Amino acid sequence: MNDLSADVAVVGLGPAGRAVAHRCAVAGLDVVAVDPHPARRWTPTYSAWADELPSWLPEKAVASIARKPAVWTDRHRVIDRTYCVLDTPALQSALILDSVRVLAGTAVDVTGSRVTTADGTVVDARHVVDARGTRDSRDLAQQTAYGIVVERQRAEPILEGSDAWFMDWRTDNGALPGEAPSFLYAVALDDDRILLEETCLVGRPALELAILRTRLHNRLARRNLETTGHEDVERVRFSVEPPPRARADTGRRGPLLFGSRSNLMHPATGYSVAASLAAADHVVEGFRGGSRSSRSRPVHIWTVQKLRNLGLRTALSLEPDMVPQFFSSFFSLPVELQRSYLSGHDDAVGTMTAMLKMFPTLPASARLAIARTIVRTPVRG
Ligand SMILES: Cc1cc2nc3c(=O)[nH]c(=O)nc-3n(C[C@H](O)[C@H](O)[C@H](O)COP(=O)(O)OP(=O)(O)OC[C@H]3O[C@@H](n4cnc5c(N)ncnc54)[C@H](O)[C@@H]3O)c2cc1C
Repeated sequence: MNDLSADVAVVGLGPAGRAVAHRCAVAGLDVVAVDPHPARRWTPTYSAWADELPSWLPEKAVASIARKPAVWTDRHRVIDRTYCVLDTPALQSALILDSVRVLAGTAVDVTGSRVTTADGTVVDARHVVDARGTRDSRDLAQQTAYGIVVERQRAEPILEGSDAWFMDWRTDNGALPGEAPSFLYAVALDDDRILLEETCLVGRPALELAILRTRLHNRLARRNLETTGHEDVERVRFSVEPPPRARADTGRRGPLLFGSRSNLMHPATGYSVAASLAAADHVVEGFRGGSRSSRSRPVHIWTVQKLRNLGLRTALSLEPDMVPQFFSSFFSLPVELQRSYLSGHDDAVGTMTAMLKMFPTLPASARLAIARTIVRTPVRG
């Protein structure tokens, strides 16, 4: 058995864990990080709103920028907010771990002050960060998507003059009335390539990838884009909720939950990467100050989480044909309120205002579905 001690132990080296390990090391803290495959190269396409990214992130971590991304809900709308696709390899390399002691191992027990790995290694630390991600479970609400990468020249007509489709809810994907809806997400990966992805925002269970693949091909064929069958493919499936054990109070001092395992994952949109990058320095501040303030749950963070969980339950309960109308109302909000709802995790007033402003603009059937969701929501839970 190996015994190690450190200021900070980070469990999990996905984007969240690697960001917090990196920023702790930059701040001069002694860090041990544990992951079964610490050298695994990340492959997903990660995107974010540009204003969410921390200033310390080098520009090279951004692969492409869409200054006026568009949505199609009931009609074409431009979102006045810059959206960007990250350069995944550059992001990973930017989160340098040179002065972090990295262990290849699987944590089997994680407390607030100790990490034990499967091979019996024990790491004692003043602070433990649990960034093990969520769990791939059909019992949890999940997001799924199926995408292909097409040369810009061929894909450009699909963008119809926009620089990205954040969501295109038009129904030319062959989905039958009453079936769970999906939307087209289309972003530039770089100057030469566009990712075209049919996405199920959230479902329990989410749409299967085979269905999304068929819908994507239907949609593209109807828009006169012939695929070759040789395009690179991106398959997406991840849970937008933390695993139940992470939610439970085990009665002992727990680790700081971070990344998609924590409330940094937006349960109604599936975004967490930018929030994790932005929150890394708050964690460092808390650790350097010797306090555990970073893990306290002030009432506004708690409130935002509850409101977002309500947003998730609403998304899960809406009738399929109401979904585009729901997003039509959402994208009619001023962009500041859209930001409050989509980004950060502590703007309780903004999140509440966005939801209250949206409510009266929704069709009666959608208001009824939301009201039912609220009535069924336990006061705590
Ligand atoms: C294809 C795809 C595209 C996505 N696109 C976006 C996007 O555009 N924007 C966005 O914000 N989000 C996106 N997401 C969702 C989400 O943000 C990502 O899943 C992101 O990777 C979450 O980061 P994380 O570090 O919290 O968790 P993970 O990336 O899941 O990392 C968890 C790490 O913990 C390690 N680990 C697990 N168990 C243990 C253990 N017992 N001991 C030690 N280590 C362990 C794993 O090996 C892994 O390295 C996408 C997800 C996918 C799959």
